[in-house]
Amino acid sequence: MEPMTEQQVRRSFVNCSKGEANSATLPRDLGDLPWGTLDVLGWRDPKAPLRGYLVVQREGRPVGIALRAAESRMSARRTVMCLLCRSTQPGDAVSLFTARRAGEAGRNGNTVGTYVCADLGCAARVRTDIPPWLRERDPAEVGEELAAELRHRVEEFLAAVLR
Ligand SMILES: [Zn+2]
Repeated sequence: MEPMTEQQVRRSFVNCSKGEANSATLPRDLGDLPWGTLDVLGWRDPKAPLRGYLVVQREGRPVGIALRAAESRMSARRTVMCLLCRSTQPGDAVSLFTARRAGEAGRNGNTVGTYVCADLGCAARVRTDIPPWLRERDPAEVGEELAAELRHRVEEFLAAVLR
């Protein structure tokens, strides 16, 4: 990703009001993020525990999705797969997130939902948590492939929000 400023991130959201975008708490270290190896910027709002955000760049422009985590947590004894990065984790590390659809559909209460790593840290995870069956290959190359798949799935989710 290209580095983004706070203003670019706030203006990128497609499914929330200006007021909501302005009240979002952004990652504090925006200037120091490893943008070159970051394919999706995802974080939870430290001041609004159920809120989270995903921002991708499409044709060089940032596009952000505001998300809401389900209040109920899954059991840590279950194994659940994040549907964006496809890592398997204890149930309490994965959360059901819903995104209001953009435009009129969203104003009418329409949402789309998916199971995602509760910390929305998929972008770092695809490059560090290489699945065992891929560990014989070059980790950097595998990381690139998994990151490309992550980007693709986030874009599909974004398309559902914009539909
Ligand atoms: Zn994930």
